[in-house]
Amino acid sequence: MRLGPAFALLGACVLSACSANPAPDEAAAQSAFITPASESAQPTSDPVAAFSDPAPGVPPSGEPAAEEPPAPEPAAPSTSHVALKYLIGDIDPAGDPKFARIPDKYQGGSRVWGHKDAVAAFVRMAEDAEQNGYRLKIVSSFRSFSDQKQIWEDKWSGKTLVGGKKLNVSTPDAGQRAVKILTYSSMPATSRHHWGTDFDINSVSPAYFNTKEGKRIYDWLVGHASEYGFCQVYSHKGDEGERTSGYEEEKWHWSYLPVASWYLKQYPVDVGYDHITGFQGAEAAKGIDVIKTYVEAINPECLQ
Ligand SMILES: [Zn+2]
Repeated sequence: MRLGPAFALLGACVLSACSANPAPDEAAAQSAFITPASESAQPTSDPVAAFSDPAPGVPPSGEPAAEEPPAPEPAAPSTSHVALKYLIGDIDPAGDPKFARIPDKYQGGSRVWGHKDAVAAFVRMAEDAEQNGYRLKIVSSFRSFSDQKQIWEDKWSGKTLVGGKKLNVSTPDAGQRAVKILTYSSMPATSRHHWGTDFDINSVSPAYFNTKEGKRIYDWLVGHASEYGFCQVYSHKGDEGERTSGYEEEKWHWSYLPVASWYLKQYPVDVGYDHITGFQGAEAAKGIDVIKTYVEAINPECLQ
């Protein structure tokens, strides 16, 4: 993904003294985001090392290496390693320093918390959008495990209709019922909304994005969101080079990659099927391989 000038400026700011003492985890994430892909460290299974600055001795891009860089150290606990609770939404954002409240003027629903870096980036984007005649609001943001459990179980039990049906009646098989809910809704412990890095913008209705206003907003986001670090993770799927599995396309769901990319790398390392439990239908998670088939099935353009 190409970074626009606005985000390049932010990057310069982050590297200098704008934030005198960024928390180690955020600093690592930001550093990762502004490192051009051509200068990235060698692929590694260590999620922290993968997001570190290039090792000393790595030449500027385009020049052959004089010698192989030293092999990365084995994975070790690090202060930049995000705790499991942040990956699975087991937190209270109101009392957590990683989180910030979305300013009132940009709230479009009852969810008002996001990762502080994502909220700050969204505000910059929304202010610029407004100056150009586009109104952006966040209709959903951070959701805890228990928020997601409520959404999921309401669909599981038939309280919320899915495709006009009560799934507990129409689809008794657990695996099939879970897959139907997974069209648009995540299982608890597997939603990017747990991270606070992902926002649903203006509407969660596909129909809105077929209206004149919805198309206008979407076109602006496609053209400019990357300048602020946001990417549409649930893009169109099925055609060549596109996603092959996962949720249906969500034109409203935008992810703040400087933090979310790093969470996604760490997710399959730290989260197992023993963590995806404690809700109705959880027994279907492993058979569907929900981590690989849904959590990791994002827009290839959003992979870093
Ligand atoms: Zn969403």
